[in-house]
Amino acid sequence: ASSVETMEFQAETRQLLRLVIHSIYSNKDIFLRELISNASDALDKLRLESLTDSGLSGLDTSDLHIALEVDKEARTLTVRDNGIGMSRDDLVELIGTIAKSGTADLLAKIKDSQDAATAENLIGQFGVGFYSAFMVADTVTVRTRRAGTDSGTQWESDGEGAYTLRPVEDLPVGTSVTLHLKPVDSEDGLADYLSESKIRQIVKQYSDFIRWPIRMAAERTDAEGATTREVDTLNSMKALWARPRAEVAESEYHEFYQQISHDWQPPAETIHMRAEGTFEYEALLFVPSQAPFDLFSRETRGGVQLYVKRVFIMDDCEALMPDYLRFVKGVVDAHDLSLNVSREILQHDRQIRGVRRRLVKKVLGAVKDMQAKDAERYAKVWAQFGRALKEGLIEDPDNTETLLELVSAASTHDPEKTTTLREYVERMKDGQDAIYYLTGETRAMVENSPHMEAFTAKGYEVLILTDPVDEVWVDRVPAFDGHRFQSIAKGQVDLGGSTEGDEEKDAEKARHEQDFAALLPWLTTALSEQVKEVRLSSRLTTSAACIVGDAHDVTPTLEKMYRAMGQ
Ligand code: ADP
Ligand code: MG
Repeated sequence: ASSVETMEFQAETRQLLRLVIHSIYSNKDIFLRELISNASDALDKLRLESLTDSGLSGLDTSDLHIALEVDKEARTLTVRDNGIGMSRDDLVELIGTIAKSGTADLLAKIKDSQDAATAENLIGQFGVGFYSAFMVADTVTVRTRRAGTDSGTQWESDGEGAYTLRPVEDLPVGTSVTLHLKPVDSEDGLADYLSESKIRQIVKQYSDFIRWPIRMAAERTDAEGATTREVDTLNSMKALWARPRAEVAESEYHEFYQQISHDWQPPAETIHMRAEGTFEYEALLFVPSQAPFDLFSRETRGGVQLYVKRVFIMDDCEALMPDYLRFVKGVVDAHDLSLNVSREILQHDRQIRGVRRRLVKKVLGAVKDMQAKDAERYAKVWAQFGRALKEGLIEDPDNTETLLELVSAASTHDPEKTTTLREYVERMKDGQDAIYYLTGETRAMVENSPHMEAFTAKGYEVLILTDPVDEVWVDRVPAFDGHRFQSIAKGQVDLGGSTEGDEEKDAEKARHEQDFAALLPWLTTALSEQVKEVRLSSRLTTSAACIVGDAHDVTPTLEKMYRAMGQ
């Protein structure tokens, strides 16, 4: 007994546990999906390590599977796998603490969220995973032995404040998670999780594509009335992406999407493709309908999983999707790669770069189609992911044209609606050659800027750009449809077209300049600490003066952004 250690959960873990147990999930059934998904990950890891790590190559991987065991007397449900297992330290690190960054932010957001569905979605994205067991169990016991080690550990907790650890001899490699079930309570959403049919239904609904067999001993009554026990495989294990598109139902795509994304809402777009030839692969990609809470945090990685001939290789395969499409979720199954591929190798592989180019074109093409055929859905996608897509105008020069076609921006043309660049160009006035824009922190700030005066007075449309990333791309992108981008706050803007041939106007301009000939140099000297030059301007109508940036100056917003990035 002296070898039993009692440990406290980390504070954030305790908070998260409380949320999970008491309020968050209305759908308690998903605990089984979470535990099965962990078991499946553990089997993937063992398989991969046995193929790549010589130290583990002696392991028997011929019968990797997940087993569900019901004990009606003890009222326990056990999820067992013969996967990679965990060491004592793994248990402390992986189960006792939440290492994920952004935990505090997430907890705050959940507290602020208005309804249960939002909260559920947030926590689902975060992957509360293992802890969901405490929704249905009073006590959870984990027995586990890490592959390549000699002894095992038992972890046990009631999900309140603490857990215990003790060494256990004679455990097989792998993990078993035993749930001591709470009483059935239909009002609380607690079904009878000892019931064979209930378990079958949950597995079918949530874990059917799991690529390892999920087995359960089932009782059968034969013709003579005798009961026998038989082991059944509950899931179909069919890799959805490997099936022909015509044979996959929309609902199957959605279920699969839910499994890999933990997103409750159906995706905005599904892309299923197969490439044949020298480098064969299948891809099943999704554009979500809602951005994850951490789309713009620095740690957010991609959402595309890599498989090689149905063997799971890695999550978040950055080599397959550029950063600005990190919100795309899905699976790529490549046939001709080694199982040993590392992230480094993938980054430099010529064929993988080819796959990535093709996938990017597919995704952008799908969004463009949506823009043409379903404006409402496109507008929703743009509202969620436009900021990320605009990063592509900086990162991905190969697709500048397509991305510019996708851009939607606020404009002085219609305060209620955004405009595409194409629509802007169609409305351009005769003689206008540039696309005018003004950047700023908010729409109101941009609209009230003195720079706006002359432009609105003369009826020129100005794009209102308020995302920090806007500052950067308008500077990088040379032109849209032959029209360059011109900030109305930078350099000389010649409004009113050419005055050539208009002698009266020319004469007036010259007189005007004479009147101020002495004042301007004096002002320039007097304000030399603050400005480079004081000029006469035709851009103002009611304001007396405004500050204008040099054509190549860093704007105030950009300055702030660079500072925030620590540059
Ligand atoms: P996630 O699966 O999103 O990482 P979980 O809370 O579901 O989060 O699990 C936390 C971690 O605990 C996993 O990443 C894994 O390292 C470990 N773990 C959980 N269940 C198992 C298992 N059956 N076998 C091995 N490791 C496991
Ligand atoms: Mg998990």
